[in-house]
Amino acid sequence: MYSNWRGAVSSMYWLFSFRGRNGFLDIMSTQTIAVHLPDGSIREVPAGTTPLEIANSISPRLAAASVVARLTPLSVAAVKSASDEEPSEAAMYAAEDAAAPRLVDLATPLTADTKLELVTEKDPEALKVVRHSAAHVMATAVLELFPETKLGHGPATDSGFFYDFYREKPFTPEDLALIQAKMAEVVARDEPFVREYEPREQALAEFERDGDFMKTHFVTKFTEPGSEVSFYRNGKFVDFCRGPHVPSTGRVKAVKVTTLAGAYWLGDEKNPQLQRVYGTAFFSQKEMDAHFARLEEAAKRDHRVLGKQLDLFSIQELAGAGLIFWHPKGAMIRKIMEDWMRDECVRRGYQLVYTPHVARVNLWQTSGHEGFYAGNMFTPMELDDANYRMKPMNCPFHILIYKNSPKSYRDLPVRYAELGNVYRYERSGTMHGLLRVRGFTQDDAHIFCTPGQIEDEVVACIDFAEAVLQTFGFKEFKVELSTWDPNDRAHYAGSDDNWNLAVGSLERALDRKGIAYKTIPGEAAFYGPKIDVKLVDVLGRLWQLSTVQFDFNLPARFELEYVGEDGGRHQPVMVHRALFGSVERFFGVLIEHYAGAFPLWLAPVQVGLVPISEKHKSYAEKVEKALKDAGLRVEVDDRNEKMNAKIRDFANQKTPYILVFGDKEEAADAVSVRTRGKGDQGSMPLAEFIAKAQGLVGEKSTEL
Ligand SMILES: [Zn+2]
Ligand SMILES: [Zn+2]
Repeated sequence: MYSNWRGAVSSMYWLFSFRGRNGFLDIMSTQTIAVHLPDGSIREVPAGTTPLEIANSISPRLAAASVVARLTPLSVAAVKSASDEEPSEAAMYAAEDAAAPRLVDLATPLTADTKLELVTEKDPEALKVVRHSAAHVMATAVLELFPETKLGHGPATDSGFFYDFYREKPFTPEDLALIQAKMAEVVARDEPFVREYEPREQALAEFERDGDFMKTHFVTKFTEPGSEVSFYRNGKFVDFCRGPHVPSTGRVKAVKVTTLAGAYWLGDEKNPQLQRVYGTAFFSQKEMDAHFARLEEAAKRDHRVLGKQLDLFSIQELAGAGLIFWHPKGAMIRKIMEDWMRDECVRRGYQLVYTPHVARVNLWQTSGHEGFYAGNMFTPMELDDANYRMKPMNCPFHILIYKNSPKSYRDLPVRYAELGNVYRYERSGTMHGLLRVRGFTQDDAHIFCTPGQIEDEVVACIDFAEAVLQTFGFKEFKVELSTWDPNDRAHYAGSDDNWNLAVGSLERALDRKGIAYKTIPGEAAFYGPKIDVKLVDVLGRLWQLSTVQFDFNLPARFELEYVGEDGGRHQPVMVHRALFGSVERFFGVLIEHYAGAFPLWLAPVQVGLVPISEKHKSYAEKVEKALKDAGLRVEVDDRNEKMNAKIRDFANQKTPYILVFGDKEEAADAVSVRTRGKGDQGSMPLAEFIAKAQGLVGEKSTEL
C-alpha cells in the first residue's frame, strides 16, 4: 500500500478551509465580492468565484498562460512579498498570513474583497510554483517505483527543486533514470492538483500508522492541534502541503532529475540518512536547454579552474582559507588594474593615501565597528600597550587624516582614495575562490564635502563607475537605489533632513546621468542611502561591484567639521565609494567574463615568440627586444621543442598573439602572426605588427 495515497477527503473539510478571517458564515451571507484587477478595474463577482474563472472571463489565453494567482487583502499596504522567503520548512508548511499578499491556486474560491493578480510565466515566482509542483511529480514517481520509500519534504530552490526520501537501499544512477522516465508518465497523465483537508489528528494517526516519521514531524511542528491540515492530491498521490500548485501535472513541461546527495534527517548524523534527489524544471524545453548550456559555459569559465590553468593565483592551505596569493601573471593584471585606477583617481581630483592594516580597538570603538560590526572582524591581538584589530574597512583611517588638520569650505570637497587591504571574518567553509575571501583590497575612497556639493560629487562617482565598466569591457549594468523606510524611523541614524537631502541628491544625480534605476525602500544601511551598480557579464549574470554610499553616522561619531563661508563650524557630508568593489572579486569576475582570454592591454603575456629552430635564436632576441622596447609584454619559447608544441602551449595560455619565425621571416624582418580566436594571419613586417599591437593596447581594445 502506498503510504501517501489516501482516500478522498470529505468536501465538508474543503468548505471549512475557507473560513478565513471573517468566518464561515460570511461566505454565505456575502453575495458578491469586489475583485480589484491590476488595470484598476473592479469586478463584482459571487463569493466562491475562482481566479481561473476570472481569468477565463478576461481571456481564455490569459487563463491558459496563468500559473497561480496573487491575492492582496485590500486592508494591507505593501508587505514583504513571498519571493523573499527562503525555501524553509516553515515557509512550506506554516499557515498563511491572511493579511499578507500570497500566491494561491487558480482553483481557490475567493471569499472576500481582494486585489487579484494573475501570475503568468513572466513572473519569477511562477517558476518556483512549477518547480515545487515538479517536486510532487518526482515524489509521485518515486512512490510508484519504490512504494517502500518514506517522504521528507520537497521545496523549490533558486535553481530547481529537491525531494528528501528515506529508503534503506540507496538510489542508483539507474534508479534516477527510472524516476525521470516515470515522471514523464506522471506529467503525461495531466493529473489535476487538488487541495484537500483533513483533521490534524486523523492525518497524524495515518502518518504514524504508515511509519511516515518525517511527515509526522512536519505536521506536528507546523500545524496547530485541532486544525485542518492541508494536502495536495494528484491522482492517487497525496502530500502534506499548503501549496500553491500549478493546475495539473501537465503544466510541468520541462523537468530533469539532476543529482543525488545524502543528507541526515534534521541535519543530525545520529538520524537516518536521507537521499536528496535534485532536479530542475522550466516552462519549456528550450529554456531548460539554455540553462544547461549556460551551466556548462559557466563551468568552463570558473575562475578557480582558470586561475590554476593560467597560473594566476592560488589559495594556500598552509596560510589559511580566503587569503589570496597573486602569482606573477595574476599580479601583472592586478598591477595594470591598479595603475589604471590610481591614475584615474588622480586625474579626477582624488588624493591618494596609504593607511595601516591594524589599529587599536579604541579606534573601532569610536567608529562603532567594535559594536555593530564586531562579528565580521578578526578577533583582537593583544600587544603590550593595547588590543589591536585588523581593519575591516578603511573609513576610520581616512577620517583620521581628514581630522588631522582644520578644514575650511575652500578645502572641500576632499577626496581620499586608497587601494586598502581589509580583513573580514568569514566562517570557514563559506569562502569561494576570489569571490568570497577573508582578506581583500578595496578600491576605496571617501569624499567629504558640503551639502551643496553632494549632487555633483555623486554624478562624478557614477561617471567614474561607468568608466570602470566600459574600460574593462562590460557593456551592460543595472543600478539600484537603496533608501530608508520612513515608517521605521528608529532603525536609521541621521535626521529626516539628512535623509531627504541624501536620497534627493542621489535621485537627481541618477536623473542627470539619464540612468534608469530601481528604488528599493528599506534596503539602505542604517547610516545612509546608497547607489549600487551591478554589472552584467557575458553570460548575463549580475555582479554587485560599485557602491556609492552616504554616511550620516561617522561624521557625527568623529565630530568632523569644516569652517563654513559664514565663519561657523559645520559637519561635512561623507560618501564612501568603491568601484571595483574589491580588486580580488573584480579580478574573479574579469576571469569569468573573458574566460581567461584577456584583452591585449590586460593580458599578462601579450605576445609569445616561437623561433622555428635553434638557428633563429638571435632573431628571436632581436624581435623580443623590439617588442619590449615598444612596451609590450613578451615571452620567448626557446625550448628544444617542436614548433607546434610551442604554439599549442601559448594557445593554452590564451596568449593574444603568437609570432612564429624562421629563415624566410628573418630575411624579411617579418613575423608570421597567429591571432587568438582567428588563427594564422600570415606574415607581417615586424614594425607593422608592433604598431598594430601598440594601437590596440592604447585603445584598451577588447578585440584583437
Ligand atoms: Zn507541495
Ligand atoms: Zn568607507
